[in-house]
Amino acid sequence: MDANYEENSPALREACGIFGVFGTENAASEIYNGLFALQHRGQEGAGIVVSDGEKVRSHKDRGLVSEVFSGYPMERLSGHLGIGHVRYSTTGVDRIQNIQPLVAECSDGIWSVAHNGNLTNAAVIRRMYQKAGAIFQTSTDSEVLVHLLSDPMFRLRPQRVGRTLGELEGAFAFLIMNKNSIMGARDPHGFKPLSIGRKENEWFLSSETCAFGHSNIEYVRDVEPGELVVIDKNGLNSSFFAERTRNLSQCVFENIYFARPDSLVFGRNVHEVRVQYGALLAKQHPVDADLVISVPDSGNSAALGYSRESGIPLDYGFIRNHYVGRTFIMPNEKARAAGVDMKLAVLAEVVKGKRIVVVDDSIVRGTTARRRIDALRKNGAKEVHMRISCPAITHPCFYGIDFPTKEELIAGNRDTNEVCERVGADSVGHLSVENLLAPFENRRNFCTACFTGDYSVEVTGKKGKKILEKHG
Ligand code: AMP
Repeated sequence: MDANYEENSPALREACGIFGVFGTENAASEIYNGLFALQHRGQEGAGIVVSDGEKVRSHKDRGLVSEVFSGYPMERLSGHLGIGHVRYSTTGVDRIQNIQPLVAECSDGIWSVAHNGNLTNAAVIRRMYQKAGAIFQTSTDSEVLVHLLSDPMFRLRPQRVGRTLGELEGAFAFLIMNKNSIMGARDPHGFKPLSIGRKENEWFLSSETCAFGHSNIEYVRDVEPGELVVIDKNGLNSSFFAERTRNLSQCVFENIYFARPDSLVFGRNVHEVRVQYGALLAKQHPVDADLVISVPDSGNSAALGYSRESGIPLDYGFIRNHYVGRTFIMPNEKARAAGVDMKLAVLAEVVKGKRIVVVDDSIVRGTTARRRIDALRKNGAKEVHMRISCPAITHPCFYGIDFPTKEELIAGNRDTNEVCERVGADSVGHLSVENLLAPFENRRNFCTACFTGDYSVEVTGKKGKKILEKHG
């Protein structure tokens, strides 16, 4: 999250991917592979920091993982432990300094930090340190952890890292590294995922388990909410810096959209959950139609579930151009619309003369739905019924998912009929909150604030209050 962001815009945005390694001969290449598998979590920048026990070395830049490290002499990044980060944030905060991992030289050595999530009390901590004369080099909220770690109040005490983590509020999965160890921690609400993997004596920490598969890394377990794991030459050591909250606030949007379908997130395979959402959606919003099509790739699993449950055949109605970047963060509606048109072409031969059910994971601003429904009609579709495998998004996210303001959200101030009219569909059906939580054993353990406005952690400070008043 960008600390100045509160000044510029009411929503705080960032969702990223983190990957750490201990005990391997060539940590940098393992981290490169891990970040490559987590690329969907952030395309704005990437970075790797490694240590050989003596020296700490890093490289980071704007762009995709392959771009950042293409042509870079990887042998310079020698070391047996390290952490990496892929960054996702919006256009206004494209500052090279903000690319992580952050590396800081403290009085007791070099510390590095990689963060996924948003800290809701970062502005308050930042102001406190700035008043005391500290200089911040970035505008990301994550930097407050570096200042806490080097603060003598914590630095000189036992359990220093745990104590500093205990000062933070909001959503975080953190990787922290010094020259001899890597650490992983999740906030006590468990907003963000973080998993532990192992290959003989090598240890891995990753935002998602999809980064384990290609290297034959065995999934061990998730880092628990409130837990700090320290991995060094003695193996993995676990402690708790905070008691986990009674009901967790795991981000259900990871299951809906953000995570890769082959990952295990919050104990469930993402693809399976999405197929189940599709089946529940078919029961909740049945429709007489000839064909189910998905908006690729985000709607693929749910479309399969809808088709299986309804008995309506599934076909490819859209062909996706994989070389178009993310349309979601393009700066204005015209650019986003052009991006969507370029990205998703209609297969006229499939949709002509048919009554179509279009399944997608979510409608945010409505750009994708509006443009694609229009294109389906132009290509001869007789009817277009939109089915969405999550509830209507009515509130912004303060914990790390990039949703625009309430005004920009198509369902921010509109009911389903109005949304339907605006996107030009024959009907629109959203999954209910109840069905959204149905695949999970303990339904109270999820954050659904973007659908309900029920925020479990407040954004603190005057600005935070203003944001909540405006959007609450
Ligand atoms: P929109 O066109 O604004 O309605 O955006 C909806 C599409 O963007 C959906 O098809 C999702 O696949 C995708 N999407 C949803 N949430 C996000 C997000 N936070 N960042 C990037 N893409 C998203």
